[in-house]
Amino acid sequence: MDEEKNSDYDSQSEESLFSDSQTHGAFHSHFIESVRPLIELIDSLRLIGLDEDIGLPSIAVVGDQSSGKSSVLEALSGVALPRGSGIVTRCPLELKLQKLKKGPWSGTISYSGHSETFKDPLKVDKLVREAQNELAGNTVGICDELITLEISSPDVCDLTLIDLPGITRVPVQDQPDDIGDQIKTLILKYIDKSETIILVVVPCNVDIATTEALRMAQNVDPEGVRTLAILTKPDLIDRGAEIDVLNIVQGKVIPLSKGYIIVRCRGQSDINNRIPINKAMEAELIFFRNHHYFSSLLDDGNASIQCLAEKLTKELCDHIKKSLPSLTEQIQTRLLSVQRDLKNYEQGPPLEEEMMGSFLSEIVLEFSDQINEVSRTGHLKDKNIYVHLRPIFKKWDIYLRSTEESFKAEVTEMIDKYNEMHRGRELLTFSEFCEFECVIQNHVAALQEPAMTTLKDVREIIQNEFRDVCSLSFEQYPPLRYVVSNMINDIQTKQEAKAEKRIKEFINMEKLVFTQDKVLQQKFNDSEILQKTGIETSDKNSYDDDTIFNSKGCALLDSRNLVPDKLLLYYEIVYQRLTDYVPMLLILLMLKDAAKTLRHQMLELRNGADVVKLLSEDSERGRIRADLKQRLERLTQAQELISNRL
Ligand code: GDP
Ligand code: MG
Repeated sequence: MDEEKNSDYDSQSEESLFSDSQTHGAFHSHFIESVRPLIELIDSLRLIGLDEDIGLPSIAVVGDQSSGKSSVLEALSGVALPRGSGIVTRCPLELKLQKLKKGPWSGTISYSGHSETFKDPLKVDKLVREAQNELAGNTVGICDELITLEISSPDVCDLTLIDLPGITRVPVQDQPDDIGDQIKTLILKYIDKSETIILVVVPCNVDIATTEALRMAQNVDPEGVRTLAILTKPDLIDRGAEIDVLNIVQGKVIPLSKGYIIVRCRGQSDINNRIPINKAMEAELIFFRNHHYFSSLLDDGNASIQCLAEKLTKELCDHIKKSLPSLTEQIQTRLLSVQRDLKNYEQGPPLEEEMMGSFLSEIVLEFSDQINEVSRTGHLKDKNIYVHLRPIFKKWDIYLRSTEESFKAEVTEMIDKYNEMHRGRELLTFSEFCEFECVIQNHVAALQEPAMTTLKDVREIIQNEFRDVCSLSFEQYPPLRYVVSNMINDIQTKQEAKAEKRIKEFINMEKLVFTQDKVLQQKFNDSEILQKTGIETSDKNSYDDDTIFNSKGCALLDSRNLVPDKLLLYYEIVYQRLTDYVPMLLILLMLKDAAKTLRHQMLELRNGADVVKLLSEDSERGRIRADLKQRLERLTQAQELISNRL
């Protein structure tokens, strides 16, 4: 219900509360020039994103719910944050203040991928609430996702402050039973880092000894070197309790090496009465000066927001100074490990677009060289494409050879039929060329299909080989792989069509039934010699079955057979032509010419291609490498920034 009261108030015009000149935080007026370079150094480290790798000095505010954390931050930064009683801060809020030399106030709120820049300081409250609702739901849940609020203005200092959800013990409304633990875990995540200065906020009107926030801080920082306690709401102290508070601030109750500061921020009534922050700070000074017990604290430098700002600036600078050696060390260690990790992720594309063209050229050339190697030698590394091609060629040869038997049968059948129908008184010879031609034509026509099968097998092997080279070369670039793989497929399809046409031509040529007289004559001569030696050797039972010549000779020159030898010998010429020409044609078209075309097209790919798209890596690997490269760059830059300062 308090929250509701607040949002009523939100909807009112607040111009009187925060006019441009009134957004000054307390830091502004007490910003010490000599410490500025230190804060700027950390700020520039943060600017290059080093806080993603290494914890950078920052200030986290912890305390019970409604202890006044957001109020203190508001007073320090001049930025009006959502405030009120009940659970208001439900996500960690990182307040990055950036001092501009000049220029208008500008804020950017970002969380879980969302980012919005705005020019009106009055929108902070609303936008932070929206962000919290988005991340932690509309009710009372918490969430450990960080909301980052960057404020750039000439009136803030370079500082990062983190507002954290307040510690609660008793769950309210629909809060889960373990809400207290959830919040503590979240807080611990921030205050555990040795780079964090812990501001423990405790209202004056509670028993400080029982404050959970202080206990948590003492656990992570037992020496109290980075813990500063802030007592709030001094105006709400019960009468008579002032001495106790005074003792606490003076460190007489729980001693803290960094000590205590007591501040008075805008109470709910100040807000309702629209008291601006700077006016509230003036009122604070008057409050302390006139305070019967606390006026001495003002003189000792233990009271007021301004005093806190000064002290915090000084503490932060000391803290930064102290952190620098360890920061440098951490940067160096990280740098080494990033360099080592990066080595494990082989070279990838350059990050700059203008370098990508030449990088693409380079890997394309490498790929082309490999394709050339496959085409020229058949080898690539320890792979040999002929290991796969040769069995296909052999299969073709065996098939062709096997058709000699069927051819012989067909010729025999044809002669038998012819003799039956047409033979007259002539002796047993056969000279009907047309009949023979017809048998040949039918026979070779049937060879077309197995030749096409051979073509398809060869295509598959070569295409797979090219694809393998492509996959290996462009493993990291799926789009490039896709393009080249399609290219390979298209080229093979075109080459296959060409080869198909040529094979059909071969078959048609064989249908012509032709050979040079000398070639046929040679065959006769050979077969006569063979016939003799064949018989001789077969008599001795010592010929080798596998020798093509012998087996051929025996099959073709069976003298008991009535088929004229000449006809069968001619088919041997057909066999010899086809058994070699088909594989030769396939090597030429499917391997050599295809490789040439592919190389040509690859070189063309370099021109006018969308390199960024081609070289985009969607693999985990690419992401990791890019990430490592960025880290390397950040760390190197950070190292330079620090060494320039020292
Ligand atoms: P948080 O939950 O710790 O962030 O606490 P808030 O900053 O939201 O403050 C809780 C309430 O206490 C708000 O209504 C503030 O206006 C009020 N408050 C904070 N500081 C003071 C103070 O010094 N005096 C008075 N009277 N009220 C204060
Ligand atoms: Mg708060």
